[in-house]
Amino acid sequence: MAEDRFFNACVSYDADYDPRFAPRFAELATFMRAPYKPDLVGVDIGVCGVPFDGGATNRVGARHGPRSVRDLSSLMRATHHVSRINPFALCNVADVGDARFNSLFDNATVEADIVAFFARFAEAGVTPLSIGGDHSITYAILKGIVRDGPVGLVHIDAHTDVLGPIQGVRFHHGSPFRNAIEDGLLDPARMVQIGIRGAHNTSEAWDFCARHGVRVVYVEEFDSLGVARTVEIARGIVGQGPAYLSFDIDALDPSIAPGTGTPEAGGLTMREAQGLVRGMRGLDLIGADVVEVSPPFDPGTNTALCGATMAYELLCLLAEARAARRG
Ligand code: MN
Ligand code: MN
Repeated sequence: MAEDRFFNACVSYDADYDPRFAPRFAELATFMRAPYKPDLVGVDIGVCGVPFDGGATNRVGARHGPRSVRDLSSLMRATHHVSRINPFALCNVADVGDARFNSLFDNATVEADIVAFFARFAEAGVTPLSIGGDHSITYAILKGIVRDGPVGLVHIDAHTDVLGPIQGVRFHHGSPFRNAIEDGLLDPARMVQIGIRGAHNTSEAWDFCARHGVRVVYVEEFDSLGVARTVEIARGIVGQGPAYLSFDIDALDPSIAPGTGTPEAGGLTMREAQGLVRGMRGLDLIGADVVEVSPPFDPGTNTALCGATMAYELLCLLAEARAARRG
């Protein structure tokens, strides 16, 4: 085990040195100190960054999210204290680096670059766990990985993210799930959105969800249902088919996660968010993401710690789902 190697001291400078043998504060910050494998060869679950915030409608900074989450993820340990899942024992987990952009100044080419980056995952059979970036990226991720008809979605967020174009542009962080439904990537009947709150200028987004049959659990309903009942409802909607899980850090209350682009007071606690995600154990998850961590608004790094912690919770689910598919 890596920890034994650490305690027993084993220094080498080989090319295939495993950073998990290093002290947690040392070396380049890959996610949870996983090996860096940008070519995807032999990888089951690829943790990656999508450092793009050109889709943000207000406060930017989420382009710095992947680095900050990777840094704080060095605090994460492998074996989950509740489920006892060790994702590294179930699967070959690697940090596969970041999506790369031909022009950071052109959102249309950025979108195409993200789609192409994740198409490589689909072709190589790698399950993606992505760190944003603003929420626009989830649409491009789904475009890259969804091949066999629409999938289900567990979406934890303060916002429904189903707006239409803004200033003539469709690819922004308020639109990923509308875009994905319109493109046939998501099945709205197998979608659940949890933690939704905050006043809007119009009811356009809420009306879109109602019209398409998307189940929206506003935070007040979540309060009265509790974690266990909400999980039960969500699992009933998503069912046993392939599904994706998207976690926007602004689902959390800004008192614990201030570092985000569109904070909404009155949000979830970490224990509620962890309970919701743990409750999704056994779903056939084909990928997941944690988005909207914005380090410039995160002076104490607590938001990045929450992001890294949620990414670890998701990694456990992805590893178990992948092992189950393997049989
Ligand atoms: Mn969002
Ligand atoms: Mn949001």
